[in-house]
Amino acid sequence: MTDSLALSDIELAAIRADFPLLGHRLADGKELVYLDTAATSQRPRVVEEAMREFTENHNAAVHRGAHQLAAEATLAYEAARAGVADFLGASPEELVFTSGTTAGINLLVASFLAASGNKSGGSSQRFAVGPGDRIVVTEAEHHSNLVPWQRLAQLTGAELAWLPVDSAGRIRLDEISRVIGPRSRIVAFTGASNVSGAVTPVAPLVDAAHQVGALTVMDAAQLAPHQPLDVGALRVDFAVLSAHKMLGPNGIGGLYGRAELLQAMPPGSLGGSMVEIVTMREATFQPPPARFEAGTQAVTQAVGWAAAIAYLNDLGMDRVAAQEHALTSRLLAGLARIPGLRVLGPAEADGRIGAVALEIEGVHPHDAGQFLDAEGIAVRVGHHCAQPIHRAMGVTSSTRASLGLYNTALEVDRFLDAVSQVRSYFGVGR
Ligand code: PMP
Repeated sequence: MTDSLALSDIELAAIRADFPLLGHRLADGKELVYLDTAATSQRPRVVEEAMREFTENHNAAVHRGAHQLAAEATLAYEAARAGVADFLGASPEELVFTSGTTAGINLLVASFLAASGNKSGGSSQRFAVGPGDRIVVTEAEHHSNLVPWQRLAQLTGAELAWLPVDSAGRIRLDEISRVIGPRSRIVAFTGASNVSGAVTPVAPLVDAAHQVGALTVMDAAQLAPHQPLDVGALRVDFAVLSAHKMLGPNGIGGLYGRAELLQAMPPGSLGGSMVEIVTMREATFQPPPARFEAGTQAVTQAVGWAAAIAYLNDLGMDRVAAQEHALTSRLLAGLARIPGLRVLGPAEADGRIGAVALEIEGVHPHDAGQFLDAEGIAVRVGHHCAQPIHRAMGVTSSTRASLGLYNTALEVDRFLDAVSQVRSYFGVGR
């Protein structure tokens, strides 16, 4: 990682000016320090502007109706799809709009379930799982990439197995040959942990999965906002992500699936807009991606997401990564100098994103969060919807600061200063 690509102070100031919320003053007049981007990112003005432009000039339901407005809306929706797909290194027909990462994984699980219950054979059988089959996940997963797979295992009789994490929350690749075997059908893993921040080395997982004919599912919710992403180069079969973590609006996200797989996969959600011919007994389905987009779609949000991606592209994801790497290094170096703290993740900025979870010895994360909040610093406390990885690292919850491309060195220093006072404030370690 070359930190020389990091933003200059002038560039960073110009970027911050694009994000109205970053100028927010708290009730006590303090400046907000927003260190909760891993939960949701702030949005540049262009995102709201793109959505307003769509609402005021082109709003209509897409892929329906003969009127011109519907055609305009459809054009905007499909242009948004092309923009998002391009960002991922995919083609537009490989990108299904969903309401977010969670919805994308549930859609996949519903599709696997539909295939597993279909005894008539055909191309959907490659998505069927049953007794004796294995679904592999990891201990680093967000609940949204774990609980749906638990359900698939329970309903089909398949076995759920997982790769454990090490003491820094990194997925243990040395366990691959024990966990991924001939009966493995699915290998689902996060691209980067929202707790440890560790970036997953994807190639060994994909190699092991493909060797035994298993399909790979990458949760890119935390990876996509922070690093250049190319699903083709990573060779994953499916990937899921959320717009709201990458400068975009709520309520929209994507499911990438390799073209050949989406062609063969049965839909997991059924209703309007995804069918061809419907009789009282049965229905035929559209080709992908429409087959997986049942119901009226979040077109305005898709347009907003595409604007967020255009903003990221203008900046360049290599520069976003370099900027965050430099700031993460500063944060980790500062934390290492404060006694009584344990970083629940890799201690170096290489191979991780800027989501940094802490154990503050003797202080409950909720107390730490309140102290930091009183200083104007917004962090996340709790288990961050990832209980197993916390348990594996010997804690039940943590205090997490997470960086976005708009954070400054000064903000990191304010956090370091505040966090260095937490233990003495609560009378610990005196
Ligand atoms: N996976 C990871 C790694 C996440 O960090 C999150 C959000 N915290 C999700 C999945 C779920 O994303 P969403 O709530 O947008 O569906």
